Amino acid sequence: MRAQWGILGGTFDPIHFGHLAIAEEARERLGLARVLFIPTGAPPHKPRGRADAEDRRRMAELAVADNPAFAVSRLEIDRPGRSYTVETLRALRAQYPEADFTLLLGADMALEFHRWRDPEGILAQATVAAITRPGYDLSHLAALPTAGRITPLEAPGLLISSTDLRARVREGRSIRYLVPAAVREYIAARALYRA
Ligand code: ATP
Ligand code: MG
Repeated sequence: MRAQWGILGGTFDPIHFGHLAIAEEARERLGLARVLFIPTGAPPHKPRGRADAEDRRRMAELAVADNPAFAVSRLEIDRPGRSYTVETLRALRAQYPEADFTLLLGADMALEFHRWRDPEGILAQATVAAITRPGYDLSHLAALPTAGRITPLEAPGLLISSTDLRARVREGRSIRYLVPAAVREYIAARALYRA
């Protein structure tokens, strides 16, 4: 049987236990040999109060370090300009011809997927899974053009977002138990999200 790999893209600004929990649930339920976390490349101008691509990638590395099935890919960070998932998939399939890919989307992303660049091209290259996320209703999938073609997957609901974590750090509030300890320590040591 061909190796089954999952892909989880995101800004990961910062990575948190919500990301790790959906990746682990997908790994186990879908029998994935590997989950690749793919941080997005840097926007032309880093918005105030955000981390740059290298910090986001390093936090992702720290977060996945203790899971032998998880890895971080530099693919989108190293590619100049904006990356589209359809192109990222093409590159991954060329690089790893022995693997089949499942694109993992949180519910908020899954409900927008039909508006992405070339959803048909993505569906032709990968299985697409939509994972539950508190605050988003996956039953709306049935009314979208992609109805029946995205596999829903239930994960333990964690009401954690990077937006909330950045606000917490900015306000001097705790992010303990919301991100891995190594990520929390990295954010403190580099004084990220203070601006
Ligand atoms: P931001 O608030 O900056 O948008 P985020 O927490 O949504 O950050 P992203 O990097 O945007 O994190 O998300 C990457 C992927 O992980 C997306 O597919 C998103 O839907 C999913 N995801 C993020 N947090 C959760 C969560 N708590 N539960 C389920 N899915 C999640
Ligand atoms: Mg998001």
